[in-house]
Amino acid sequence: MPELPEMEAWRRQLDEPVRAFPIAKAGPAHVATLKTFDPPLSTLDGRRLAGARRRAKRLLFPTEDGELVLLVHLMTAGRLKYLRAGEKGPKAPAFQLVFEGGARLVLTEAGSKKRAGVWLLAPEAAEEQLAHLGPEALRLGADALATICAQESRRLHSLLRDQRVVAGIGRAWANEILHHAQLSPFAVSRDLVLEEVQRLATAIDVELARGLELRERGANDARTYRVHDRLHEPCYVCGTPIARVDYEEHTVYYCPDCQTGGRVLKDRRLSRLLR
Ligand SMILES: [Zn+2]
Repeated sequence: MPELPEMEAWRRQLDEPVRAFPIAKAGPAHVATLKTFDPPLSTLDGRRLAGARRRAKRLLFPTEDGELVLLVHLMTAGRLKYLRAGEKGPKAPAFQLVFEGGARLVLTEAGSKKRAGVWLLAPEAAEEQLAHLGPEALRLGADALATICAQESRRLHSLLRDQRVVAGIGRAWANEILHHAQLSPFAVSRDLVLEEVQRLATAIDVELARGLELRERGANDARTYRVHDRLHEPCYVCGTPIARVDYEEHTVYYCPDCQTGGRVLKDRRLSRLLR
């Protein structure tokens, strides 16, 4: 799933083109993709967007008149693309905006499952929709993170991915951040000493900024991730093979030397079956 660096790179890319021309026609939209019906999509026709904004992993496109917000959540497989006039695009996008002059903003989704969503909302309703989200991960800072860690007794990998606690990090960047911070993914937040909290806060900023810079330059996953999805490859710090542990429905990657004091973590799924 695209996370904060990926979404922010797309936001920067889309910000200018989406406000170049008024919308000629909003839609059509796949019935599973469009999550709202009032106001109808056609309310957008003739209006101009004010640009692209981002909150956590969502993109927001407010109208220039301040009356409407188009909210997009790409989930795992959704992709948003701006096509210039005449540029070829997908035959049946899950959603599209056609601008005057012929440029288009299209949402596609790989696979048959339609999980990405588009909401057309009044600004207050959009705010409500986002109210459950925690503070943005980038530049969260050590003080705010210390408060969070003291309040929550949670394993770090799971805590970082909880959008209600801190917004924008998913499993890939949680792997990168915890490795950078040299903390175990299964360390408990409340047990961290101040120095570890500071290390984690720094790692969040450094890794998300690194990701954003790479994504803005168009780097793919293989060039971006150094720990995530790198099973058995040498750790970029110490050379120890990266290990993996399956935990609930997802997978955690870590370096046993840098992060867990040489301990190889048990596969949680397997050990639960054997219990
Ligand atoms: Zn290492």
